[in-house]
Amino acid sequence: MTDTHPASPASQSGGGPSPSLENLLHETRAFPPSEEFAAQANATADLYTAAREDRLGFWAEQANTLLTWKTPFTETLDWSGAPVARWFADGTLNAAYNAVDRHVEAGHGDRVAFHFEGEPGDTRTVTYADLQREVSKAANALTELGVRTGDRVVVYMPMLIESVVAMLACARIGAPHSVVFGGFSADALRSRIADAEAKLVITADGGYRKGAPSALKPAVDAALAGEGAGTVEKVLVVRRTEQDVDWTDGRDVWWHDAVDGASDQHEPVWVEAEHPLFILYTSGTTGKPKGILHTTGGYLTQTAYTHKNVFDLKPESDVYWCSADIGWVTGHSYIVYGPLTNGATQVLYEGTPDTPHKGRWWELVEKYKVSIFYTAPTAIRACMKWGDDIPAGFDLSSLRLLGSVGEPINPEAWMWYREHIGGGQAPIVDTWWQTETGAIMISPLPGVTATKPGSAQVPLPGIAADVVDDEANVVPNGSGGYLVLSEPWPSMLRGIWGDLERYKETYWSRYEGLYFAGDGAKKDDDGDIWLLGRVDDVMNVSGHRLSTTEIESALVSNDIVAEAAVVGAADETTGQAVVAFVILRGEHADRAATDDGAAEVQTELRNHVAKEIGPIAKPKRILVVPELPKTRSGKIMRRLLRDIAEDRQVGDATTLADSTVMDKIAAGLKAPA
Ligand code: ATP
Ligand code: MG
Repeated sequence: MTDTHPASPASQSGGGPSPSLENLLHETRAFPPSEEFAAQANATADLYTAAREDRLGFWAEQANTLLTWKTPFTETLDWSGAPVARWFADGTLNAAYNAVDRHVEAGHGDRVAFHFEGEPGDTRTVTYADLQREVSKAANALTELGVRTGDRVVVYMPMLIESVVAMLACARIGAPHSVVFGGFSADALRSRIADAEAKLVITADGGYRKGAPSALKPAVDAALAGEGAGTVEKVLVVRRTEQDVDWTDGRDVWWHDAVDGASDQHEPVWVEAEHPLFILYTSGTTGKPKGILHTTGGYLTQTAYTHKNVFDLKPESDVYWCSADIGWVTGHSYIVYGPLTNGATQVLYEGTPDTPHKGRWWELVEKYKVSIFYTAPTAIRACMKWGDDIPAGFDLSSLRLLGSVGEPINPEAWMWYREHIGGGQAPIVDTWWQTETGAIMISPLPGVTATKPGSAQVPLPGIAADVVDDEANVVPNGSGGYLVLSEPWPSMLRGIWGDLERYKETYWSRYEGLYFAGDGAKKDDDGDIWLLGRVDDVMNVSGHRLSTTEIESALVSNDIVAEAAVVGAADETTGQAVVAFVILRGEHADRAATDDGAAEVQTELRNHVAKEIGPIAKPKRILVVPELPKTRSGKIMRRLLRDIAEDRQVGDATTLADSTVMDKIAAGLKAPA
């Protein structure tokens, strides 16, 4: 990251002691687990004790009980090459075998692995035995196409069964995959292919999105015509939409031609635990995406462990649904590797939540009796905006646990999720983690932790996380600072693909021996951790360091606000000033259309923030906007809003979900004020 924002901690080093992030919002609601839930929960408080007493022994036990090894490991952790860890390094295993075959061998071949639902309403049921045949066939086909152990394969796909099969087929032959989100442009695809030096690309003619077929193959053609993509020898194409596609003979191969006739017998390639499983580029919320490298044994151990304990999975009876795209790490860890390793039954949905109607997700929950649901705050806020009556029209009583990931969840959104989706009963797990961490790191344990709206709360058993100040001192309860991870963990990244220096520089140079996550955080009076936004977004107003998240949550707690994004803009007197961008809720949207109305909304919201957290946090300006700039994974890109607030040319917006949003915001703001 090359951001030289004044509030970034790197620019503060060398100065005297500087104030840590201030702790402003006072949210005190708490929800202890019900007795019934606790009585049946997978997790118990004993996990914390066991991990505290013997951390490495704890992880070795997880690796041995949750995975099947071809040859057992004898050493749990080798940290002598820090900051590159080696976990379970002399053991061998195969990720696809763990995710699929062993469940069939254990007699669960008839269990449904996926209830697939296409956006147009087509469905497909895939059992573990089906999955074993499909993955074996695809593995044979990849080998036939010249892919060898260690070769990189780029997967650029919609949300289809074949996408999961493609990933597992790569894992089966030890060819690291790099999934590129299907919504990314040809250029984003090209740069990722070039960086990974991929040998093969797996794609589809297209997929269904927002009620229409959307093409994918043309982006692959364009990417491969560009610079740096010359390593690609073959393109494997799944037929989904039957759109016309351009065809390059000798390079392009239909999936059904290569895979359908291949043998369904395949011996997995047994790899060492540290064999690369995949490369995945981060979302690009703060800057240029990084190719995060994950390996096999430690990654599988921690994804399986967290999926079992954080989601309380009962593979025989639960129907689990994670709404993420497989192009994000959440899809890798909590659709593909964690749940399948645990033998879960899942829903896989191709499309958008509002097609053909805004209740589509809840209709699917009712139809498949989903019991565990995992989504992102951005989706929850969108549902809030659409209205309570939509989920109320469906039977959601099958839901017994809810999860959130991707951004801090505002307490009001958390409460809405609990009441309107979880029936006021289902525990909510707010899970903090990153592409880099591979798996969940900080989260309540359902059945154990009394949950608090807006807080990820506690490092999981086996994980060492804390909040430190500029000098790396652990902050006392009630104070804020920076989130760090102080011990290596099994699913940690093993580096940035091809750039060890950038790995060290980005995560290990800020503090000696501590992993710097790049997120601000505070500890409340109980020692629970609250995420306060990215350090690049922290504001410095008259010497006070304020959190974007807390001010946004205060704004969202006002009835007229649907969504809010807060940035610090350069200010002559205060250093930085708080500028808020807000989207008003449906029925209030018109209020800011006139000058008087806009002034009234400003005053009302400024006073509201002053009341909720204090006068220091009062936004200097509040701009009512129709939309907010978001990454393709739904995260707010505050750096672009900072450009607007500071009247600058807007920076790199290539990872935006909708490239016209910035124009819409600018146009709205230029209208006579
Ligand atoms: P880039 O690193 O390229 O800027 P990114 O950080 O958005 O992109 P991800 O790895 O997908 O890429 O996201 C991880 C980040 O998401 C975390 O560092 C944190 O800022 C945020 N995050 C994820 N889960 C939570 C959560 N439960 N609470 C608060 N923040 C979260
Ligand atoms: Mg990041």
